Amino acid sequence: MRFSENLIAWYNISKRDLPWRNTKDPYKIWLSEIILQQTKVSQGMPYYLKFLKNFPNILDLANSEEDKVLKLWQGLGYYSRARNLHFTAKYIRDNYNGVFPNNYNDILSLKGVGVYTAAAISSFAFNLSYPVVDGNVIRVLSRVFGVESEFDTGPGFQKFYNIALEMLPKHDYATHNQAIMEFGALLCKPKLPLCSNCCFNENCFALHANKVGVLPRKKKKIKIKNRFIHYLIINNKDKVFLRKKNEGIWSGLYQFPFLEFDKNISNDKVLISNNWINLFKNCEYTISSVSSPFIHKLTHQKLSVIFWQIKSDDIKLKNFMKFQTNKISDLPLSKLIDNYLTSNYII
Ligand code: SF4
Repeated sequence: MRFSENLIAWYNISKRDLPWRNTKDPYKIWLSEIILQQTKVSQGMPYYLKFLKNFPNILDLANSEEDKVLKLWQGLGYYSRARNLHFTAKYIRDNYNGVFPNNYNDILSLKGVGVYTAAAISSFAFNLSYPVVDGNVIRVLSRVFGVESEFDTGPGFQKFYNIALEMLPKHDYATHNQAIMEFGALLCKPKLPLCSNCCFNENCFALHANKVGVLPRKKKKIKIKNRFIHYLIINNKDKVFLRKKNEGIWSGLYQFPFLEFDKNISNDKVLISNNWINLFKNCEYTISSVSSPFIHKLTHQKLSVIFWQIKSDDIKLKNFMKFQTNKISDLPLSKLIDNYLTSNYII
């Protein structure tokens, strides 16, 4: 089977016109690759365009405030990508005179860049012979060649990598890598692949073995943790407390003080919990409103969140800053908090 030739022939006819494919600029390619990690093209596209408008080159990004980067990223999730993007832009400014490195090992050493992203930048920007191995590529290789190894194990991934390397053509690695990813995204899709239109359907292992629905194989099942959170929007002399997180999934974003419980308890029980009593001891307060639960799903967590609006003029909270209510929406916030604020007025 002339694997690469078939793929490239299909790609030349069927590819989408995406802006990051019309450039060899490693900055733009890197930006697109970071945005598209765990993100669909349709969701990532406006962010890509917005970032390029605000930061046309790597020095503009490096010289920006982190809050501005996170604010532009707001709503895209996996915020460590934005923090790493900013860190790496500063690193390239300070260590490479602002010029993106042009070899695989230096690219791989950048923060936030793994084996897949390094191969993508190396091949797309510099046409270096490194295979991309992402979810789309694994699915295609697994089905076409009947690779039954679990891709989320070390040896399993290595097997896919070796096959991807073997399949690289003698030249034009960039087009081959783009083609195999596009093929996985548009044709050999996770569900309902378009086998009847596929150039590999005569030889495809999965199609003939009736294994399209079971390949590729995965070992780990994601465990979802349930969390029960009560955000406290405390109005103190017409200002509200927030803190910039410096840990966890929302590091760098601002959030209200909160109480967390290991199970779902009634609001009446929250009011008599030790956490609540300790927070409000020796202060007067009134509760202005309590929201219904907001359900927010993340890859490994399901959050059930209630927002309380409270007035207290004598409360003091260490490690929190106070903001005018009309300034809060200028801060980088989680999508969850932003959703609440767009539909609820802070009293
Ligand atoms: S025949 Fe179907 S399963 Fe096989 S490569 Fe083509 S689209 Fe994928």
